[in-house]
Amino acid sequence: MDRYDNRVNRCRPGFGASCALCCGSHNYAMGPEEIEELFVSRSGEATRNGHLHPEDSTAEKLFHDAMQCPHVGMDPAEPGIVCCLIYDDPDRVEAVGTFFDGTCRTFYCPAWHELTDRQVLFAARLMRDWYYYSLLINHIGAVHDLCAKYDEPEDVPGDELSALRDELVSVFIDEDGK
Ligand code: SF4
Ligand code: SF4
Repeated sequence: MDRYDNRVNRCRPGFGASCALCCGSHNYAMGPEEIEELFVSRSGEATRNGHLHPEDSTAEKLFHDAMQCPHVGMDPAEPGIVCCLIYDDPDRVEAVGTFFDGTCRTFYCPAWHELTDRQVLFAARLMRDWYYYSLLINHIGAVHDLCAKYDEPEDVPGDELSALRDELVSVFIDEDGK
C-alpha cells in the first residue's frame, strides 16, 4: 500500500476542488477562464494530445522553465475537475510512459505531508474550484493560518477571501510558478 493511501487525496479532495498545479495547469499566458476553456476542449477523445511528451507545451507559457503539460484537462466524467487525461491510457507512447512512471506517479507535493486532512478539506470547501484551490493548497502557510483562525471555511469573511485570492495569484507570479 502506498504511504499516502489513507489520506484525503490532495489532488481531488471533493467539494468541487481539484489541483494539477505541478503539471503546469496555471502556466499559461492567459486568464483562468481561457485556460478552463482550453482544458474543456481537450476532454474530447478526438482532441487529446496523446503523442505529446508531458514536457511539451501547446500555448504560450508564463514561466518558460516550468511545465505546461498538454495532458491536463477537465475530467469528462466530472465537469469542473481538472485531471490527467492520459492517467489510465494503455496506449501511451514509450517516452511518455517513461516520464509518467518515473515522475508523475512518484511525485508528492508538500501538501501531502505538511497539511492534515482537516486542513486540506478546509481549503477544498473554501475554494471549491481548480484555480484557487490549487494555489491555496500549495501555499502551506496560508492554509495553516486560515485553519488556526477559523473553525469552518464558512467563517471566512467575503472580503478576506477576496484578498486571499489576490494574494495567492501574487505569490504564484512572484515565485515563478514554483
Ligand atoms: S501540486 Fe500537489 S495537490 Fe496539486 S496535483 Fe500536484 S501533487 Fe496533487
Ligand atoms: S502526464 Fe498527467 S500526471 Fe504527468 S504531468 Fe501530464 S497531466 Fe500531470
